[in-house]
Amino acid sequence: MDIRKEYLEFFRSKGHEVISSMPLVPDDPTLMFTNAGMVQFKDIFTGNIPAPQNRRATSCQLCVRAGGKHNDLENVGYTARHHTLFEMLGNFSFGDYFKEDAIAYAWEFVTKNLALPPEKLWVTVHDSDDEAFDIWSKYINPSRIMRFGDKDNFWSMGDTGACGPCSEIFYDQGEEHFNSPEDKMGGDGDRFLEIWNLVFMQYERTAKGELIPLPKPSIDTGMGLERVIAIKEGVLNNFDSSNFKPIIEKIENLANKNATKENIGSYRVIADHLRATSFMLSQGILFGNEGRPYVLRRILRRAIRHGYLIGFRKPFMAKLVDTLIEIMGGHYIELVENQNFIKEQLTLEEERFFKTIDLGMSLFSEELANTKDTFSGEVAFKLYDTYGFPLDLTEDMLKDKGLKVDLIKFDELMANQKSMAKAAWKGSGDATNDGDFKELLEKYGLNEFVGYTNVTYKSKV
Ligand code: ATP
Ligand code: MG
Ligand code: MG
Ligand code: MG
Repeated sequence: MDIRKEYLEFFRSKGHEVISSMPLVPDDPTLMFTNAGMVQFKDIFTGNIPAPQNRRATSCQLCVRAGGKHNDLENVGYTARHHTLFEMLGNFSFGDYFKEDAIAYAWEFVTKNLALPPEKLWVTVHDSDDEAFDIWSKYINPSRIMRFGDKDNFWSMGDTGACGPCSEIFYDQGEEHFNSPEDKMGGDGDRFLEIWNLVFMQYERTAKGELIPLPKPSIDTGMGLERVIAIKEGVLNNFDSSNFKPIIEKIENLANKNATKENIGSYRVIADHLRATSFMLSQGILFGNEGRPYVLRRILRRAIRHGYLIGFRKPFMAKLVDTLIEIMGGHYIELVENQNFIKEQLTLEEERFFKTIDLGMSLFSEELANTKDTFSGEVAFKLYDTYGFPLDLTEDMLKDKGLKVDLIKFDELMANQKSMAKAAWKGSGDATNDGDFKELLEKYGLNEFVGYTNVTYKSKV
């Protein structure tokens, strides 16, 4: 089943307009990346721009959660369900239907179209939301409706903007997976998998933190496509589904070794980061030292470090792009059209980091051997400044050892360097060779952010 299509057609049949995915870079300085399907509609929810004539919309939105309020970078490779880039299916009501219909549609889609067994479905509601509880009771045994507080059941896009209480649908993957004390709804265990969030948009949070009621209560929902595909394919981990498996096999093939229980995390991180970096590049985000370009660089360098761990010593990411295109290129034409650009950019950035990674890894290991409680801030800074290891990469390398970097020292050195060399800072391993870009940009002519003009309407709907 093509679940993406099934979803959009389902909501089209319920009077929704099918809208294309918006660019990953939102037209909003408060938001690092588009992190949910509602982002392109946020000003409609708040009433800042008028609702379209058809007050029902549906979309499949590419989302990145690698910065800001929603940041899953640290989760990738560690959980079975998080990606830095993922596809969010959503249906939206701009002051049209509310809880009753949103729940009815969700239930119908999940039990009929997806044909998930009703007895495996659980839902959560905000602890103050008796109305949602009562509506759900018509469909599901109340013993499987849980009430939680703001942490789990109040959704916001960012620090400001539209928000509201929410109700979520979970899929019970079986009691045998109840394997950790964390393993409750909203936790990081494997038993209850969150699939769909129905947000009852009722408020706008202002910069001062006040909640003001929206002009009209609205609906915003988000369902993770990768998770649903994994459930339908009967696998417990998204990375074992057809969305990722071919990429992982290709990595095994290139590395000339199969993943093991110990190193499968590295293969998964690479597969995930291949998707995120390729899409970001395809939408005109380039590698750089600040803001979004630095996030892109950090994601790629994490992937390279995992590649290093499984034995790669030269660029490999570009060799995976064709496999990604086989999986996603049918829907996301920007990947196909920009494939040469993506491959060249990945390779250039890998070449940069492969130049210094050996020395950096040796320095890291030496220091690690001498570390008792806290990893030296000086060495973390040297790794950053001389060898191009972003701080979060070093932190990630320390994560499974339970160690942290001395951030006070690191920040002090960073501040020193910034003030000393503000005028002519070229020094860090992170700042090498901007000239490479120019040549490529001339060659491909992609020298401006193309998302708004070229990409928006390219994905097929
Ligand atoms: P989780 O608790 O699993 O981190 P969330 O509560 O942060 O998810 P929402 O903000 O409610 O997620 O987003 C709506 C839906 O998008 C989720 O129910 C899930 O199916 C999907 N989703 C969220 N984050 C990710 C991610 N990093 N990778 C893949 N799918 C995701
Ligand atoms: Mg989350
Ligand atoms: Mg959640
Ligand atoms: Mg959620």
